[in-house]
Amino acid sequence: MKRVVALLCVSVLFLVGTACRAQPLSQSAVLLDTTCKITLYDGDEALLDTCFARIAADEQRWSKTITTNEVSRLNCDGAAAVSEDTAALLTEALTYSTLSNGAFDITAAPLTALWEKAEAQNALPTATALTATLACVGYTHLTVDGTTATLTGGAQIDLGAIAKGAIADRAAAYLRENGCTSALVDLGGNIVAVGSKTGGEPFTVGIADPHDPDALLMTVKAADLAVVTSGSYERGYTIGDKRYSHILDPHTGQPVENDLASVTILCPSATKADALATACFVMGYDRAATLIAAESDTDAVFAMADGRVIATEGVEIAS
Ligand code: ADP
Ligand code: MG
Repeated sequence: MKRVVALLCVSVLFLVGTACRAQPLSQSAVLLDTTCKITLYDGDEALLDTCFARIAADEQRWSKTITTNEVSRLNCDGAAAVSEDTAALLTEALTYSTLSNGAFDITAAPLTALWEKAEAQNALPTATALTATLACVGYTHLTVDGTTATLTGGAQIDLGAIAKGAIADRAAAYLRENGCTSALVDLGGNIVAVGSKTGGEPFTVGIADPHDPDALLMTVKAADLAVVTSGSYERGYTIGDKRYSHILDPHTGQPVENDLASVTILCPSATKADALATACFVMGYDRAATLIAAESDTDAVFAMADGRVIATEGVEIAS
């Protein structure tokens, strides 16, 4: 009997030793133009290292500032053979562009370039420049056929509003494939909870207060869930003495200024959450709330410009 008990103890210890860590393992790096942090509650250093290497490789592939990658070839030549992963991401981006009626628009690159130039010259874009730029923006200008992507009408793609979510999903999938059951992936506020805490309780994820980004608006419970926030409190364009949002309305060409201070989307896919957070921020509360209500796997927390906070029914508030 004693021997059985001893054996049981050994096997329990073994299980505890392999299934969870006494101390979580955490690593941070500046990638994707932001701070990326991954915390493993099970898994080892080597898994963490390869996960970061994959994020860096995804950045090389999807950044529009790397002139030799697939995205730049497509933007420059108007057509390009792309990898299956890129074709899948572009196809998904088209889905959310359509779903949001172009509030999130994967061809927003010329508009981003216009406002970057405006900031560099410290002068608002002229009406003529805005009209000319808007003529090039429109997701119907992009087609994806197998692994061939084609752009018409001078359109260019900008993955800035969806790539961090997609890369967070890929990192989470990689961790799961390698046996990790408990981790937090945070790519500059694009958060994926892989599994739950080692005790089985959901993770608690903080949502920044857009009116005071050092403070938290609330914390939410998250297990196998993405939590992604879009707002203008961190990035933007300064022209004259005014700060403009870096999120642009593809219908008007103007930086977003509406009744929202930030939008947080909660759903299983960080790719969807990233695209819809941007879309909802452009749409304003009423239209965004209607869009979210129609998506059965998706919830949202709206931080209103006037300080109110509105969460949809499925959001599990931790505090
Ligand atoms: P962040 O990347 O700061 O977390 P977002 O996910 O909302 O925020 O993405 C903003 C970026 O997406 C911008 O910097 C720009 O490159 C691009 N962008 C801006 N407006 C739009 C839009 N309406 N649709 C698609 N992409 C956009
Ligand atoms: Mg986004």
